[in-house]
Amino acid sequence: MNEKGNISIHTENIFPVIKKFLYSDNEIFLRELVSNAVDATQKIKRLAALGQYKGELGDTTIDVSFDEKAKTITISDNGIGMTADEIKKYINQIAFSGATEFVEKFKEAKDANEIIGRFGLGFYSAFMVADKVEIQTLSYQEGAEPARWICDGTTSYEISEGNRAKRGTDIILYINNDSEEFLTKSRLQEILEKYGKFLPVPIRFGTRTSSEPDGEDKDGNTKYKSVEVDNIINNTHPAWTKSPSELKDEDYLAFYRELYPYSFDEPLFWIHLNVDYPFNLTGILYFPKIKNDFELQKNKIKLYSRQVFITDEVKDIVPEFLMLLHGVIDSPDIPLNVSRSFLQADSNVKKINAHITKKVADKLAELFRTDRKGFEEKWKDISLFVKYGMLSDEKFAEKAADFCLLKNTGGEIYTLKEYGEKVKDIQKDKDGNIVYLYTHDVAQQDSYIATANGNGYDVLVLDSPIDSHFVAYLEQKNEKTQLKRVDADVIDNLIQKEERKTLQLTDEESKTVTSLFEKAISKDNMKVHVEALSEQDLPVTVTIDEFMRRMKDMAQTGGGM
Ligand code: ADP
Ligand code: MG
Repeated sequence: MNEKGNISIHTENIFPVIKKFLYSDNEIFLRELVSNAVDATQKIKRLAALGQYKGELGDTTIDVSFDEKAKTITISDNGIGMTADEIKKYINQIAFSGATEFVEKFKEAKDANEIIGRFGLGFYSAFMVADKVEIQTLSYQEGAEPARWICDGTTSYEISEGNRAKRGTDIILYINNDSEEFLTKSRLQEILEKYGKFLPVPIRFGTRTSSEPDGEDKDGNTKYKSVEVDNIINNTHPAWTKSPSELKDEDYLAFYRELYPYSFDEPLFWIHLNVDYPFNLTGILYFPKIKNDFELQKNKIKLYSRQVFITDEVKDIVPEFLMLLHGVIDSPDIPLNVSRSFLQADSNVKKINAHITKKVADKLAELFRTDRKGFEEKWKDISLFVKYGMLSDEKFAEKAADFCLLKNTGGEIYTLKEYGEKVKDIQKDKDGNIVYLYTHDVAQQDSYIATANGNGYDVLVLDSPIDSHFVAYLEQKNEKTQLKRVDADVIDNLIQKEERKTLQLTDEESKTVTSLFEKAISKDNMKVHVEALSEQDLPVTVTIDEFMRRMKDMAQTGGGM
């Protein structure tokens, strides 16, 4: 058997185009080839399980190796292999069955993933880094002959007798000059870990040094010796693929450390996702402790498709307000080769997004219901998610209304409903509005808080960056409720004022004091108000006109988020 032929494609020299076009993303060749090896291995396992393959399954570990001198990278599996006919069918024809369309789409595509995915070009991604690709394969079928296929990156190929003695496939890449970066241990290790850390079949990449107990020294301490062990890249059974009932808290925490080896903080809690209708999705989402450097923490969720890493840009799959979560989402319904435009158009993706939002809301509601105290302790860390979620997603807001908490300056915590009940009789203005007082800076507004408290009013702490928007949200949501900053000129307008002691100063004295302070402050957005504060030690309060303040705030922040 020795056959030369042309890959069935109408356009000559498509490979240089592939190479050039896909250059930016070329490391994915390894993801594609290793995924193929995994597929081939899982197929033989399934055939064996079904009794359709009666031979010895043997070791099914996939080997990745490289030869710096020969400039080759080899991916070797013990999967189902291919016959020469199958090579012709699956390798030569399949990929380019829609060649004309393919070339058309080339012009539109924005990234490599888009092309590779849409046209089943997984195998051909090898030509992004190789001048020449060789397949050595032996099919599992009885009486099959080993076959060899070689292609030098033009549209012609050669099929001849192969040399594989054992069932399975070697893909040998003859790396091109531009891609020699891939011929180092560290670079290959990095890519393998990135895409293959949780593949379901063991991937071996040479050996590594490890230490092993080696008896005891004379003081009875364990001695260690270094040994060479298989360098296995992956954990084939990551936590998210297991059932929640199999997992303890330690397992979730251990998996978190596996995902983020360089993170020192433990997550606050997690949600194990497990959906099989109307789409298939598993995963674990962790709530991290929020730090101030939000940007650093974004894009921590990793998207997988059947345990193959796809991307950590999950913008369209995960609702914006949950982008700070960590963890993994795995869905075979998201194709291996996702692209932006695909995600935006896909209806499954929208459903996934809605489902995640619902799950997160349900989990928070459950935590609140079953362990309110624990929930309150975590509130500082999760309030940002919850408030952001309420501002951006109506469905989430509906659920979150039950567990969204407010904290006052005395450290007491209330639900929205509880708080409304608490202040509704005391903090009313003349128009019948309930007035919530709040501070955005406890230390700075200490004296205002004392004044308000002294008058029997409660003051909320709303001091995070999102709170200025949350304040507006609460007002808009609750008719007849107004939120006023504690240094605003509002306390005087609350009805309780009438019950307070009257001014001890004469009008004349009062005027003198007022103008004294006004001169000293000389800011036109502040008001000086002199009154008797019998049980307190503050003779004067200086307030900021609430309307002026908001205008100023808005001018500064541009009014948006
Ligand atoms: P896909 O994996 O999406 O089918 P690819 O271009 O990656 O597309 O592979 C094309 C086909 O070539 C596969 O479907 C499979 O039939 C065959 N193939 C590729 N690699 C292997 C392998 N290592 N062992 C057996 N068959 C393989
Ligand atoms: Mg493939």
